[in-house]
Amino acid sequence: MDTSSGECEEKAIKTQQSRKRDAKGDVKKTPSKKKRGNEDGDEAAKRREWLRGKAKDAVIPEEKAAQLKPEYLFKEMGPLVIHLCQACKTYNSKRPMNQLEDGMAELPLGMCTVCRHFLIQQHTMKFYHHNLPSLKKKEML
Ligand SMILES: [Zn+2]
Repeated sequence: MDTSSGECEEKAIKTQQSRKRDAKGDVKKTPSKKKRGNEDGDEAAKRREWLRGKAKDAVIPEEKAAQLKPEYLFKEMGPLVIHLCQACKTYNSKRPMNQLEDGMAELPLGMCTVCRHFLIQQHTMKFYHHNLPSLKKKEML
């Protein structure tokens, strides 16, 4: 009886150890909080540097490529998701909100060319890469 209970304990320990192993079978070591904090800082700095390198090749859209057309922007069904960069968020956080009639409120929204261009791209992409394929699939076109 003692032997069988010992085997159970051993199996339980093996199970616990296997949970700590990654896909390669290597046992993961959890670094101390202090060391992990430094590693997170190093990783964040590496990521910032990597992002900065990538951003050098990015293109800032010109005004003519960022012209919004509200008649189309608000026509689409479903939620409207607007991404704003930090500069736009900071600018808009200082803008007054106007209370309108019928429980409506007007939130003035300033958007830079990057944010407006992205909104246009987002709508175009959704139309061509989601709406049309979804309709094709649904109606077997
Ligand atoms: Zn912006």
